[in-house]
Amino acid sequence: MKRMGLFICHCGTNIADTVDVEKLAKKFESYPGIVFSTNYKYMCSHPGQALIADAIKEHDLDGVIVAACSPILHETTFRKLARQSGINPYQCEIANIREQCSWVHKDKEKATAKAEKIIKSIIEKTRLNEDLKPIEVDVTRKALVIGGGVAGIQAALDIADAGYPVLLVEKEPSIGGHMAQLSETFPTLDCSQCILTPKMVEAATHPNIELLAYSEVKSVDGYVGNFTVTIEEKATGIDWDICTGCGQCSEICPISVPSEFEKGLGNRPAIYTPFPQAVPNKPIIDSENCLEMKTGACGLCVRECEAEAINFNMEPTYREEEVGAIVVATGYELYPIMNLGEYGGGEIEDVIDGLAFERLLSSSGPTNGKIRRPSDGKLVKDIVFIQCAGSRDPEKHKPYCSRICCMYSTKQAMLYKHSVHDGQPYIFYIDIRSGGKGYEEFVERAQREDKVIYIRGKVSKLYRENGKVKIAGVDTIANKPIELEADLVVLAMAMIPTTGTEKLANVLKLQTDANGFLQETHPKLRPLESTTAGFYLAGCSQSPKDIPDTVSQASGAAAKVVGLFSGEYLQLEPTIATVDEELCSGCGICISVCPYSAREMDIGKGIAKVNEALCVGCGACVVACPSGATDQKNLTDEQISSMAKAILKGEKES
Ligand code: FAD
Ligand code: SF4
Ligand code: SF4
Ligand code: SF4
Ligand code: SF4
Repeated sequence: MKRMGLFICHCGTNIADTVDVEKLAKKFESYPGIVFSTNYKYMCSHPGQALIADAIKEHDLDGVIVAACSPILHETTFRKLARQSGINPYQCEIANIREQCSWVHKDKEKATAKAEKIIKSIIEKTRLNEDLKPIEVDVTRKALVIGGGVAGIQAALDIADAGYPVLLVEKEPSIGGHMAQLSETFPTLDCSQCILTPKMVEAATHPNIELLAYSEVKSVDGYVGNFTVTIEEKATGIDWDICTGCGQCSEICPISVPSEFEKGLGNRPAIYTPFPQAVPNKPIIDSENCLEMKTGACGLCVRECEAEAINFNMEPTYREEEVGAIVVATGYELYPIMNLGEYGGGEIEDVIDGLAFERLLSSSGPTNGKIRRPSDGKLVKDIVFIQCAGSRDPEKHKPYCSRICCMYSTKQAMLYKHSVHDGQPYIFYIDIRSGGKGYEEFVERAQREDKVIYIRGKVSKLYRENGKVKIAGVDTIANKPIELEADLVVLAMAMIPTTGTEKLANVLKLQTDANGFLQETHPKLRPLESTTAGFYLAGCSQSPKDIPDTVSQASGAAAKVVGLFSGEYLQLEPTIATVDEELCSGCGICISVCPYSAREMDIGKGIAKVNEALCVGCGACVVACPSGATDQKNLTDEQISSMAKAILKGEKES
């Protein structure tokens, strides 16, 4: 019979306030198979772990049950301890009496009774656990980074600097992301281009980085350590290998359409690079607007191009790559301004979003840094910034705080004042969230030195009158209605995941959260890992962030990849599905239900088999198999039934 030890954790007061841990530890002393039972304030702490290690030796244990928090938090810690103490790590199980008990109950008696049932069920499971060994697989030591904003660039550079090859895939013609559009950056007001463009160049020229701009990931197969990725290199219309980037083609092109990079405040030709410092600095042809491609009546650029690099008939190409880990850094977009009709979004030309204002502020922008009204080019003398435009509005728009709008509105008001000395900036806010290093001082400086006027309140209406924009609202500190007139209104729009994030998440088999951002495994303990092994998250693809947090997270994700690549083998969990060849009818139902493509038919035997490296032990096939032919290691039907019996037996007794 297995000799098991039970270790009940107080989790400070988290568990002990609601569950009578002393009483339970005493009660389980006489439970069949339990040869040692105790409780301790913090089982995961050094003394707590030493207590378990000592008990394993002293009582010759071959099974350990830790009744504590969710296994997501410390299962790995306790299993490692079990291994170091000489027992098979898969003989160590966690009974979750915190998230599943003390945190969701108030009545101590009832919670204690429930904790007892949870512990009993885990003891019964452990009693039938087999010794297991992790599955060892080889690792392809090459990384894929999707998204070439500052997050993707940083992650790629860190992995490449550690000596591993990286494929950096960016869907736009240039890397840089939104940071390339910014003027100066809070809280230090350094010029965005000056800190970003050297990194862009470094990424493009790094010997370990292959940059695939204007490309997209179309499919991913495989599993952690061994992914096969198909990447589409879109048709640019230019042979970038021979194009010198001279720019003559753009100069001669007669077409002028709104520039996406300039947020429609400036124009670009049909053959163009998105911005002068683009990396790679090679143009693409916009087939929807090119005269030659639409009507066959132009070809000016072809005649101008000495390198003979232009090819209107170019087709997309596809390539397959093997990689071991994938960093997803697909960033954000702003909530479309036309969704804020109540603020004149999309209707009043002089109501613009924050990124458009960054372009007006930028010395390389469409107005060379002069703050002019989009409607008539007049210099802006009164300007109103409205924060939380579409954020923190669960009824009509987005429920969450976009986290950086307070800071960038403050920065923009400051920079406006530095440009138009006699102008007056106003900021409408709900409350100011300035929780970063040097951020509070930055807001204080805007008020003191730049005389930015902050109005606490919500804007109710925005309309055009006498060539100005009228803003009606309530000052909730003075508790009176307020009306302002402005030349320009800047909406700090909510940050949302980049269009296509959901589609990409489906391709990569990643989860998204309620707001469409990519879901991390655990917000506190595993914020860099996605819910699927081998995928790491960086930057605003996971949640709205400023540049310091984006760069930190990107370096963290890169460290995870480097950690994965540095071992001889990759060890995978062995708690996977199995097939009983005698019982399997070969119906194939398990193949169709497996969300991880881990099931396939063994044609020779006419039965289903499990790809050990792909199976994550989700159990979907176990439930679906009509023949009872499939089971999961250490979670067999027999174990589940004995766990259920332990719980139900307790039910009758209480
Ligand atoms: P992004 O910059 O959005 O980059 C994502 C990249 O991924 C893009 O290049 C995109 O094309 C690419 N991509 C997306 N999907 C795919 C796909 N499927 N395949 C391939 N590529 C893909 N922060 C500060 O710290 N200081 C400031 O002063 C500041 N000012 C700001 C002002 C405004 C108005 C706004 C809106 C934000 C400001 N920020 C500021 C925040 C800053 O923009 C972000 O922190 C930063 O850009 C996030 O970088 P990222 O790489 O995560 O995302
Ligand atoms: Fe490239 Fe030719 Fe255009 Fe010069 S003219 S940027 S070589 S495509
Ligand atoms: Fe512009 Fe197209 Fe004419 Fe070239 S052929 S100059 S891209 S319109
Ligand atoms: Fe075999 Fe069951 Fe899969 Fe059908 S569902 S193929 S019986 S393992
Ligand atoms: Fe697929 Fe079954 Fe493994 Fe789940 S447990 S990943 S359904 S084989």
